[in-house]
Amino acid sequence: MKRQEVQSAPAFATQLIHGGYTYDAQTGAVNVPIYQTSTFAQDGLGKTRGGWEYARTGNPTRQALERLIAELEGGCAGFAFGSGMAAITAVLSLFRVGDKILLSRNVYGGTYRVLDKVFDHFGITYALADTEHPDALEAAFTEDVKGILIESPANPLLTITDLRAAAEIAHRHGALAVVDNTFMTPYLQRPLALGADIVVHSATKYLGGHSDVVAGLIVTRSEQLAERLAFLQNSTGGVLGPFDAFLLIRGIRTLGVRLDRHVENAAALAHFLARHPAVRRVYYPGLPTHPGHEIHRRQAKNGGAMLSFELSEGHDIARFFAALQVITLAESLGGVESLVCHPASMTHAAIPKETRDRIGITEGLIRFSVGIEEEADLQRDLAQAIAASGEV
Ligand SMILES: *Cc1c(COP(=O)(O)O)cnc(C)c1O
Repeated sequence: MKRQEVQSAPAFATQLIHGGYTYDAQTGAVNVPIYQTSTFAQDGLGKTRGGWEYARTGNPTRQALERLIAELEGGCAGFAFGSGMAAITAVLSLFRVGDKILLSRNVYGGTYRVLDKVFDHFGITYALADTEHPDALEAAFTEDVKGILIESPANPLLTITDLRAAAEIAHRHGALAVVDNTFMTPYLQRPLALGADIVVHSATKYLGGHSDVVAGLIVTRSEQLAERLAFLQNSTGGVLGPFDAFLLIRGIRTLGVRLDRHVENAAALAHFLARHPAVRRVYYPGLPTHPGHEIHRRQAKNGGAMLSFELSEGHDIARFFAALQVITLAESLGGVESLVCHPASMTHAAIPKETRDRIGITEGLIRFSVGIEEEADLQRDLAQAIAASGEV
């Protein structure tokens, strides 16, 4: 977007459409071309055209996406990777042997796994911390803690961490505050404005929004971190390809209208499930009964579109999944279509059972990524599947 022509900073809905890219200089194409190239001709030794050299280091399509996400998160630079895990791996590569990282207790299973089974080889350790309670987070700090990695709401119990308080605690101890903002997106929550140093995304989810691309994004608050991440991105090389970068930009354009509808459906279904006699518990940050509701309201626009619920005793979970007709059983979330999954055996299977039970990821828990279908159809599908699960 041409900054100099804009009187005041554009609203978020406008940034979604115009951020990161000004019309193609040569042709006026309103969308960024897909620069499907690995290298760029140089006019002479040391003479590139606009600094482009090799596409791992930089590609114009990827750059448009990186500028767009940096603008949306209110950071100074963005970085696009081939998956959310590649982005998280790059962030974790900022740490060194002997450093410890504190994680939200309900952290994404893959994040837990990469620390437990990969970074472990390099002498970087971790601990699961009760980040929902600032006192407990404070108490978890030891000399060697150099970073915290938080999800709020955290997967799959939608537990809420006070992001501002957590970032303050981290900074007091000289640690970096990293927030995985996948569940909220910058449309609903902007962690950098609350004090976080780095935001990461699995852009595979809401940012892409159509379950057709796997991607990860990072945004940093400071130039200094941006420089280090640019170096890591180029050195470790898990970059996003130009076609996927294009798809992601296309998805982000409609983030606002999609999420408005996602959230409307999720709020209605959370109320429906909360009233249902066969449902023991509903976890949704938009419900006033949710433990983190007040804090979430202060730091996010609304409750989002992810919820979890537990069927009452005597209901057969396998029958519930088998009976669904509109809602699909699948991993992942954030696409236009409604998806349900069973965290204990799917997304969080990498976490040992004792740990899962201790943190509340029970066998009866169902996670629901509410899509943008007609709400009445979703409600009818849930109602009939719950009924089918009760005929044990
Ligand atoms: C899916 C997910 C990831 C991992 O992202 P991929 O794109 O699957 O590699 C990380 N964090 C959260 C919260 C996620 O939901």
